[in-house]
Amino acid sequence: MDNNLYDIVVIGGGAAGLTAAQYGSRAGMKVLLVEGSETGGQLNSIPELENYPGLREPVSGFEISKEMESQALKFGAEIKKDFVRMLDKSGSFFSVTGKTQNYNGKTVIIATGAEHKRLGIPGEDEFEGKGVSWCGTCDGPFFKNKKVAVIGGGDTACTEALFLSKIAGKVFLIHRRKDFRAQQFLLDRIQETPNIEIIRDSVPVEITGGQSVTGLKILNNVTGNRENLSVDGVFVFIGIRPRIDLVDALKKDTEGYIITDEKMETSLKGVFCAGDVRSKTFRQVVTACSDGAVAAHWAGEFVMGLNSTKHAI
Ligand code: NAP
Repeated sequence: MDNNLYDIVVIGGGAAGLTAAQYGSRAGMKVLLVEGSETGGQLNSIPELENYPGLREPVSGFEISKEMESQALKFGAEIKKDFVRMLDKSGSFFSVTGKTQNYNGKTVIIATGAEHKRLGIPGEDEFEGKGVSWCGTCDGPFFKNKKVAVIGGGDTACTEALFLSKIAGKVFLIHRRKDFRAQQFLLDRIQETPNIEIIRDSVPVEITGGQSVTGLKILNNVTGNRENLSVDGVFVFIGIRPRIDLVDALKKDTEGYIITDEKMETSLKGVFCAGDVRSKTFRQVVTACSDGAVAAHWAGEFVMGLNSTKHAI
């Protein structure tokens, strides 16, 4: 048997990919998970995960991701660190081209997730790592008793503002509209937090500083007023975009997310997709895990179909 041929190759090691690897290997499939950086993906930047079933107390996303990885390994999945560049159909199998190696799969599960959007304003690139951040868990501790701005009005911005309010002296939460799209319970908590100041109808226009960030210029969309906020950090949480560079041929929605059926199968037979990279309306850790389980189940059925066809011949 070809040692480099797997029943399922999972691309991406976030919540969806790790769950797919666990489900697939537990069902007796030969599973390889390929991840370009550290496993965990966006999970690793969740400071306190409190809405995942079974958690009576909040747990860090990083901790959960390490548990998921151990669980997948325990059931026999292999995990390789490699950056996948291409996915192709080669004969009856799929060929996954990594930076260091090639892998073959009878099926593939794409779980490449999504990445944070950038503001595209002056100072953002210049001060990246010098006060501009996309991860409160990773960089929040550098801002003890300092002033920070959080940009965005979704669940991520609000969750991170609450997390940062426990470290920083002051948090400005800056949102471009009056109404937030974040869930109401998060807004209620924000409103009860004395060191968070909400600035509505405003957008950041420039991040300023010297060696590191010292200020943020904002523009009020309604009044046209400009203001210079004195801050030491700017945290950007203005949404995500899917990581889809791998495969041009798959059907995608208007925002570029990969379309699947309810078995998580894409427009290409034998290629499944799970997690934030998939076209769907509700993105949570628990829905990413659910996608991963469903994708692994149907990928397994697909493999068994292939194997039984072979036996029949
Ligand atoms: P999101 O829901 O897309 O929200 C992005 C926010 O950024 C919106 O308020 C948007 O404003 C604003 N925005 C977009 N572009 C902007 C720009 N150029 N300048 C200023 N503001 C801009 O993204 P997200 O909060 O990262 O959430 C992504 C997904 O993960 C969602 O499905 C969310 O529910 C989920 N999530 C869930 C949890 C949880 O359950 N605890 C935590 C985090 C994330 P508008 O509102 O005006 O469009």
